[in-house]
This record gives sequence, structure tokens and C-alpha cells, in this order.
Amino acid sequence: MRQRIATRAVHAGRTRDPHTGDVVPAIHLSTTFERDDDGRLIGDYIYSRDGNPNRQALERCIAELEGGVDAACFASGSAAANAVLQCLRPGDRVLYGTDLYYGTRSMMNQITARAGVHCAEVDLADPAALDAALRDDVRLIWCESPGNPLLRIVDLAAVASRARRAGVAVLVDNTFATPICQRPLGLGADLVLHATTKFLGGHSDVVGGAVVAADADQPLWQAVRVTQRLAGGVLAPFDSWLTLRGIATLAIRMRAHQENARDLAHWLVERPEVERVHYPGLASHPGHAVAARQMSGFGGVLSFQVRGGETATRRFMAGLRLMHRATSLGGVHSLIEHRMLVEPPESTVPRNLVRLSVGIEHVDDLREDLLAGFARLGA
Ligand SMILES: *Cc1c(COP(=O)(O)O)cnc(C)c1O
Repeated sequence: MRQRIATRAVHAGRTRDPHTGDVVPAIHLSTTFERDDDGRLIGDYIYSRDGNPNRQALERCIAELEGGVDAACFASGSAAANAVLQCLRPGDRVLYGTDLYYGTRSMMNQITARAGVHCAEVDLADPAALDAALRDDVRLIWCESPGNPLLRIVDLAAVASRARRAGVAVLVDNTFATPICQRPLGLGADLVLHATTKFLGGHSDVVGGAVVAADADQPLWQAVRVTQRLAGGVLAPFDSWLTLRGIATLAIRMRAHQENARDLAHWLVERPEVERVHYPGLASHPGHAVAARQMSGFGGVLSFQVRGGETATRRFMAGLRLMHRATSLGGVHSLIEHRMLVEPPESTVPRNLVRLSVGIEHVDDLREDLLAGFARLGA
């Protein structure tokens, strides 16, 4: 029976306990698992870093939602990213897109580079630029679409087919879209990365990350699994449990997030206080056609530029009363952020850029809050 993704989000990875009849999985805090008189393991587990029932349930669920064969969960999205990058060898090269999560970029520059792995930016939306950058030492292309914080779109199938011809692996950070809106493995990617901290967890109460594999025999994936077990940056049982609980409502939350995001994006475009809106669901967005083709929804994050520059943006932010002025994204509550406050000094992100992770509140209340911010601009 092939069930729809909204159903799988509720059921995937959850097994029925024949002893208790639990409808909700128990939390397995035990660090170790016993053997019988003959030295055989009683269950499927040896030691909790190596494998834990809660983490495994979450891994199976995320793998299934992404259409992958397996997944490995880590203590954060960054730990998941680091596990992938650690599998590369000195002299290897990673290509990444222009709109990359700044934490991943900083990791590549400050940590991955120490291991002699070169990481270089390339405009993945430009096929000629990608072809020119695909030298012999390239092992991995790191994509993010929609990107952060400008919501740039990359044609994932086009990148994957070029990479395949060159024998290079493709990873897609699918944190912004979630498998509800986009399934990169079906577009030809080899690995998917998630900061489960964001939409998958969905309530801003648990940090975590995951790597999902398209193919169990892929060498990079096998190295990631070994790194997870031996380096041990694993997700804790309770955090795995919380994340799995969050995923149960992923489909319905994403529907609410993106309905609100779409309404606000169209409304913001008309506001005189707004210079520019970045949302792939807008026909005016340069990546709209590609996004419409490769996504089944445009997601719940948008960004916009406030007319009047950095000072006006500060005043606007000071007028907000409902939305949380905080970094991160993907929670049920709206999170809004003046990006320049968290971007590194060398960032080229516009100084009047505001990123809004649209929550599931009533959209009229969100609009009224934005109006309260805009009201500060006349003063
Ligand atoms: C937050 C985020 C990460 C990093 O995840 P952490 O859990 O904060 O380490 C990676 N990629 C994207 C796109 C993110 O938004």
C-alpha cells in the first residue's frame, strides 16, 4: 500500500510495541543493551551511540519522507554537515552555491579547509559557470534551494545531471523546503541534508540534523554512517523523540506556513515601505519558473528589503510586538530577523534585508504586526 506523504509523516518509523500496545513510542534512555546466556544480543541494539531505538525510528521516518533508503541523525544540522565534509580527503574540492547558509560557509572556510579540502563558491544557477568549475578534483556539489537568506533557486535536476556526467556527488540542503515541498533525491541528488532544528522539529524546541541517502552503496553515504558511529555526534533519544513528534504534523504545518507566506509576500509587494520581496512563489522572483517545476509548494520563508536602508529597518524591527525578533526558522511562531545582525562582516547581504520565517498564526495578526513596524517609519 503506497500511502501519501501526509500519512507517512504520522506513521513512518513508528513500530507497534507488542508488549505494551503503545500508540506513541517510549523513550529509550538506556546507553547499553544486554546479551543472553549465549552471548547473543537480546534486541537489535548494542550501545546507544551505535544505535538507539528512538534515533533509528526518526532516521527511518526521515529517510522514507525524502524517498531515500537510509538516514543518519546528528546532534545538530551543523554536525550533520560536518560529518559529510569530514568524509572528504585532502586535495578534494567542494563546490557550493552563492546563497549558502552562512554557518555552513563558515564551517567550510574555518574547519573543512584545515583538513586540506578546498571549498569554492560557484553560481549553480549558471550552467557555464558550473561546467567551468567542474575540475577533476571536485568530489561534491553542495546545493541549497531555496537559498538563505535571498531564497535563490537552483535547478536541482540540471545540476544533478551535470554532476552525474562528471562523476561528482550532489548534496541538497533541504531544510527550507522540507520533503513536503521538495524531494531532491527524486531530482537526482545523492544526499539530502536537514537541520531538523527548523521545520521538521517545527516548534523551536529541539536542535538536530540528518543526512539522507538515495543509495545504500554510495561510498560517501557509507562514510557518513561510519563517521556518525565512530565520531559520535549523535542525536539524543529524547531529542529524537521530540523531532519525530514534530514531524507528525509536518504536512499540515507546511500548508499553514506557506499559505501565510504567500499571502504576506503578495501583500508586502504592494507596500510603499518595502523596496523588494524575495519569495519563490512570486511570479517576479527570478527562480519562480524553476521553483514551480521542482517544488510542490514554495515554503514558509521569505525575505524583504525595507525602504530607507539600515536605519529604517532598525526602526521597523523595533515596532514589532507579536513576531519574535530571533534567528532560526521553521517554528510554529513567526521569527523575524534583521539579517545584518547575524551575517559575518564580509557578507554581501543587503543591510536592509529582513528574513521572515512565517509561522502558523492567523495571517491578519501577522499583517497587523508588520503594519505596527511600518508605522515607525513615518516618525
Ligand atoms: C539552521 C541551518 C543549518 C544548521 O543547523 P543547526 O541545527 O543550527 O546546526 C544548516 N542549513 C540550513 C539551511 C539551516 O537553516
